[in-house]
Amino acid sequence: MESTDVNVNHKLVHLDLKGAPPKLEYLEKIFPLLRKWGTTGLLVEYEDSFPYSEALTVLRARDSYSMEDILTLQRLAEENELIVVPLVQTFGHMEFVLKHSKFQRVREVVNFPMALCPSNPDSLQLVCTMVDQVMAAHSNLQWFHVGCDEVYHLGICDECRRRQLEDGLSPEQIFLQHVKNVAQHVRDNYPSVTPIVWDDMFRCTDLDVLKDSGLGGLVEPMVWHYLTSFQLPADFWEKLSAVFPTIWVASAFKGATGSRACVSSVAYHLENHNTWLSTLRAEQHRFTTIRGFALTGWQRYDHYAVLCELLPQALPCLSICLQTLEKGSYTADIHQNVSSDLGFTSLLPLNPFTCTVIPNCSYPGAAVYQLMIEYAFLEAHCDRFISSDGCLTWMNDYNIKRNFTNPVHLEPIFSAASAKLQQLEDIKIKLSAELSSMFSDNTVEEWLATHLQPLIDKIRRCEQTAGQQLAIGLGDDTTESGNS
Ligand SMILES: [Zn+2]
Repeated sequence: MESTDVNVNHKLVHLDLKGAPPKLEYLEKIFPLLRKWGTTGLLVEYEDSFPYSEALTVLRARDSYSMEDILTLQRLAEENELIVVPLVQTFGHMEFVLKHSKFQRVREVVNFPMALCPSNPDSLQLVCTMVDQVMAAHSNLQWFHVGCDEVYHLGICDECRRRQLEDGLSPEQIFLQHVKNVAQHVRDNYPSVTPIVWDDMFRCTDLDVLKDSGLGGLVEPMVWHYLTSFQLPADFWEKLSAVFPTIWVASAFKGATGSRACVSSVAYHLENHNTWLSTLRAEQHRFTTIRGFALTGWQRYDHYAVLCELLPQALPCLSICLQTLEKGSYTADIHQNVSSDLGFTSLLPLNPFTCTVIPNCSYPGAAVYQLMIEYAFLEAHCDRFISSDGCLTWMNDYNIKRNFTNPVHLEPIFSAASAKLQQLEDIKIKLSAELSSMFSDNTVEEWLATHLQPLIDKIRRCEQTAGQQLAIGLGDDTTESGNS
């Protein structure tokens, strides 16, 4: 039966804590839902939200969890029968470490904070200390994800170049050696824990190089793809299965369609999961075990990016994706069940950008879901308004500088701007209150300051300009204008 023939064991939900780490009170509300929807565990990417200590204290964000929080998170997970798989980056995406002057000496490229130099012995020591601290804060771990995706700076520094020239190593071999060292550290010190690594850096690596790396018996790769159609090398699955009998795969339920998106497209992420299911149907026979899925939910594109789609508004999308994995394919029944489960009074919109009214729903975070859709509508309206012919023709900077404006055109612009401003201020008050119950003050401030406030400022400038011009009025004979 094609609809149920993909045997998905684990379904891990990714908590990307490098932005907007939820309050424990909110996690307490949603873990039972995750369990109910078929989640078996959490892939917890701590980044700077982990309470690193001693030589690593500097890595902690101002909103990092306390050690007590980490224990509470694990207790809540256990109560809901969710395993915890921590994720610590140990090669690329090390911005939260390498931005600090203390650790700049282990950068691969002196000007860029993303990748470690794998040839500097201090690098391995650093990441092993990070792994050790996170391990020490957890109990009963079965897997530990050591990251290693998107290492874009590789084989560049003097020592890495020397190893290529004198030792005859390729950048790929230098990459694999560091991953092996980190994985070996996990295996040696935590024999019951299996390291997981992202797969992307060896998608194009020759089979012989991959075999010789020794990674085969050490790690379980997690193959990630977040698009609706996959671009993987033709021999990818054959090669991967020749080295790794057991793999994981990673889909996305949010944070994969726009670095500053606020609302998750259910249709897009459903399509990603459907593509994954059909891919596994075709390729799973090659492997001994498909451990399961990690459903990633990215909170920032990287450490320096603004926050994207917040977790509470993505829960409907997560639920429908989890149910689709559970059943083996998406059906109208799933749509109906998820909608009623989350209290939608009509079917939950698969494409929220085409809603004509704000959907009614009730689940922990529903108000954020509704307000984000309202905000997305309003943002699109405001953008269209600012770049409308009305504003650009009768209120452009050239005319404004010369006070060469006609009230008959400025009055509707002023009224429209005032109305939009009022709507934006209303959303700001409501969102601020809702978000504050789930996130720290810093997170709420950041979201408002990077998404909503710039739009408010833009519309306010428009309103003020129109207001000033209306106050000046017509009839100034000294006005000079290229138009007159
Ligand atoms: Zn190097």
